[in-house]
Amino acid sequence: MEHFDVLIVGAGHGGAQAALLLRQEKFEGSIALVGDEPWLPYDRPSMSKDYLSGAKPFDRLALRPANAWADRDIDLRPRTRIVAVDPVERRATTEAGEVLSYGRMIWAAGAAPRRLTCAGGDLDGVHVLRGRDDVDGLLAGLDAAQDVVVIGGGYIGLEAAAALIKTGKRVTVVEARERLLARTSGEIVARTFETAHRRMGVNFRFGLSVDELRGGDGRVRAVVLSDGQVLEADRVIVGIGVTPSVQPLLDAGAEGGDGVLVDEFCRTSLDGVLAIGDCARHLNPFAGADPIRLECVQNAHDQAQTAIRHICGRPTPYAAAPWFWSNQYDLRLQSVGLASGHDAVVVRGDADSASYSVVYLRQGQVIALDCINAVKDYVQGRALVVGRAVIPEAALADAGTPLKALYAAVAEAA
Ligand SMILES: Cc1cc2nc3c(=O)[nH]c(=O)nc-3n(C[C@H](O)[C@H](O)[C@H](O)COP(=O)(O)OP(=O)(O)OC[C@H]3O[C@@H](n4cnc5c(N)ncnc54)[C@H](O)[C@@H]3O)c2cc1C
Repeated sequence: MEHFDVLIVGAGHGGAQAALLLRQEKFEGSIALVGDEPWLPYDRPSMSKDYLSGAKPFDRLALRPANAWADRDIDLRPRTRIVAVDPVERRATTEAGEVLSYGRMIWAAGAAPRRLTCAGGDLDGVHVLRGRDDVDGLLAGLDAAQDVVVIGGGYIGLEAAAALIKTGKRVTVVEARERLLARTSGEIVARTFETAHRRMGVNFRFGLSVDELRGGDGRVRAVVLSDGQVLEADRVIVGIGVTPSVQPLLDAGAEGGDGVLVDEFCRTSLDGVLAIGDCARHLNPFAGADPIRLECVQNAHDQAQTAIRHICGRPTPYAAAPWFWSNQYDLRLQSVGLASGHDAVVVRGDADSASYSVVYLRQGQVIALDCINAVKDYVQGRALVVGRAVIPEAALADAGTPLKALYAAVAEAA
């Protein structure tokens, strides 16, 4: 049986970063980075952006050149899926039946996209968007398709809509809530994206769910909505959230549910097993009292840092400010902090223009910013979020005064 001092499960953003950071921190033990995808670790956000639109070929999306892993003595094993974990013996079993023993395990298996459970959900032409295989499946034969229906008005669905409308498809987005981005962003930002999409010709159906998908010859042909409307569809893209990939850990007795529960050092309740990234439910200092999962590259990278510091004997609690971005058309959104629970909103600039920011406050403290084509606000606003700065709303609203000047004034007064 092979033994690894650190076995990393999942060769995505969190897993790859953990392996690289371990070596950067001069960790000298053996490291295996096992992932079930066949590819070298690659940039996942590009899947719904530059890779889907054809702007970047896959070979430009590798997180590191092919030789980087072996050069660092990282045993990268693609096409290797871990299906069971024995936390007492510290062993993991692959789908092929191989058993790997470990000193520490970092579980970085991400999440799998939810699929439609209604009739027709498994027809050909119905796609999810998570990995390269998904995008390749969607792109195959796409030229012949005319009508694309996107189910779900979150970032992934909208990025897909933006990429496909530019290729001349008719695109309709169906969203169960009354507005876009309801789970992640405020109304002002959602309106900006909706306006941009409508301008490009994307259609929307709000407040409706999908009753069934109708097909012919095994392929999807139409989407039937909850009000009886029938939308023609050659392709359906399902972007309705994810299920964290943690079953082997839960089966092994780890605490969790919608992810695996971790403490501030990314330790699960299983001895020697840490978890990071999309699958890790954690108490976030920028969120409320309940543990949350974050689905963004920042969180995967920063939790990788936390996990490897723990392994290297320099434990540091996870305290990074969440940040996230999305690109659609000429709109670049950059967000910092978590806006949930805000009780006031301040707009810097004109929300109908191509560049503005929204500042979210709770009890007078700045808790988050959404910046549309406003890099300066994003960069300078981070300190306000981290410092939970208390700044009068009128001052925040003055787009002519840089945020760093406002923060400096607060810091000086304190
Ligand atoms: C289309 C798309 C666009 C996105 N855009 C953005 C964006 O613009 N900005 C942003 O911040 N974030 C974005 N995200 C989110 C971001 O990509 C994720 O938060 C990030 O990849 C999480 O890293 P991770 O390591 O937790 O999971 P992943 O990167 O998903 O890696 C997990 C890996 O583990 C593998 N795996 C799963 N189960 C097993 C198993 N049992 N054994 C072995 N391997 C396993 C998976 O196949 C996968 O390769 C996007 C995500 C998607 C899908």
